[in-house]
Amino acid sequence: MTARTPDPTAAPDAPALHRHVPPPGHVALPRHAAPPRHVALPRHVAVAGAGLAATQTVAALRESGFDGRVTVLGAEVLPPYDRPPLSKHLLDRPGPTWLADEVGVDLRALADDVRLGTPATGLVVTGDGVELATADGTVAADAVVLATGAAAVRPAGWSAALTLHTADDAQALRERLAPGTRLVVIGAGWIGAEVAGVAAAAGVDVTVVEAAPGPLGSALGPAVGGLTARWYATAGVRLLCDVQVVDVRADGVTLADGRALPADVVLAAVGARPATAWLDGALPREPDGSLRVDEGFAVIGAPRHVRAVGDVALRRSARHGWVPGGHWDGALRGPEGLVTDLLGLDGQLADVAPYVFSTQLGHELALFGQPRPGDDVVLRGDPGSTDGWSAVWFRPGADDAAAILTVDRPRDVGAARRLFGARDLPRLDRRLVRDLDHPLRETALA
Ligand SMILES: Cc1cc2nc3c(=O)[nH]c(=O)nc-3n(C[C@H](O)[C@H](O)[C@H](O)COP(=O)(O)OP(=O)(O)OC[C@H]3O[C@@H](n4cnc5c(N)ncnc54)[C@H](O)[C@@H]3O)c2cc1C
Repeated sequence: MTARTPDPTAAPDAPALHRHVPPPGHVALPRHAAPPRHVALPRHVAVAGAGLAATQTVAALRESGFDGRVTVLGAEVLPPYDRPPLSKHLLDRPGPTWLADEVGVDLRALADDVRLGTPATGLVVTGDGVELATADGTVAADAVVLATGAAAVRPAGWSAALTLHTADDAQALRERLAPGTRLVVIGAGWIGAEVAGVAAAAGVDVTVVEAAPGPLGSALGPAVGGLTARWYATAGVRLLCDVQVVDVRADGVTLADGRALPADVVLAAVGARPATAWLDGALPREPDGSLRVDEGFAVIGAPRHVRAVGDVALRRSARHGWVPGGHWDGALRGPEGLVTDLLGLDGQLADVAPYVFSTQLGHELALFGQPRPGDDVVLRGDPGSTDGWSAVWFRPGADDAAAILTVDRPRDVGAARRLFGARDLPRLDRRLVRDLDHPLRETALA
């Protein structure tokens, strides 16, 4: 095995990149195992976590021809399920959406040993292997893939609030909501808005409280995020921005300006953090708990038989800088590159562009790339019209597009995906981009 340990403070290397862009939803896995290049192949891979990234890792291992042992430890008792429907289908899909149906991968059929309800509680890394601790003893393996996802943030003192991250959370929330129920959602981010939309549509009396000046500020920045504020009233949701919640009780919340909002249910939707506390001391972790990984998902600062993918990973990207987890597509597609690199397979590593989809109060959003504060924002179309619109973030003063958001614009989705499939950021004509009648793909500069 190589012992390359890149400097985490160094600028991202330029990895070799795929030019192939898989269609939306398609999982492009290596079809055949190629002769190993330079690494000692692991014979036993342990996977911590049993969600999407773990499931896809096991699928990629087997699709690559890996015939060694695979052990999976999952904290939850339930078989792997999909999380986006927990909010989007909170009220119209009462049970979990199994990943075996959703992505067509049955983890239990592919791995040798799947231990559900058995969280990993510690990790010891040696020069040529790992040991994972569990309540039932240790699992020794040649390589480990850390795919323990994230956990919802619940600020201290907010024990009366529900959160939404697991199937159990969804069940608890669903049972409490009925027409006329007063729901206060704290946080107008991706998940807060999704829940607000489906709850209001079912007759729940919904108020959303947001500390920032507008919704989706941390994901889209205040200017673009603020454009979604008008959707709340249309959907029958009360939106209060620029005000902090200072007290959370079972019967409501109190705001910093003294207002009291009575509620039957309070949902804290204020973000999620990588579920890596159990790794404390074993690996270098970022302040939010994430694990920095290179282009092959090797944990930076650890031997290369230690990998991380999905919501736990902060991935190095030549095109986008450091890409945090937290989005479905990263957990879906990341494992292919991880396995290619772990097994030393021939093939180039794809620098998959960050991609988030969401249904916000009846609007379909897709975000490709990664906006940064200070980028120039160019709007495409009129956010007040019913035709849909898009927003493009350009690096300050440059033609390089760092991110594209599409709102109710299915035609721009495919074009945006293709534009972010190349090695470098797409270079677009700022003037043409504004014009909805001009196809997005034709705004690319030569
Ligand atoms: C309600 C909701 C809606 C979402 N909607 C969208 C969306 O619309 N679009 C989008 O892009 N993304 C969405 N996401 C995010 C997306 O679902 C995640 O990015 C994705 O599930 C990450 O996959 P993962 O495998 O890394 O983590 P997870 O799916 O969280 O799986 C990790 C698994 O590891 C387990 N685990 C934790 N600790 C341990 C341990 N110590 N040992 C063993 N197992 C452990 C967990 O119990 C969990 O089952 C949503 C998330 C939520 C919660």
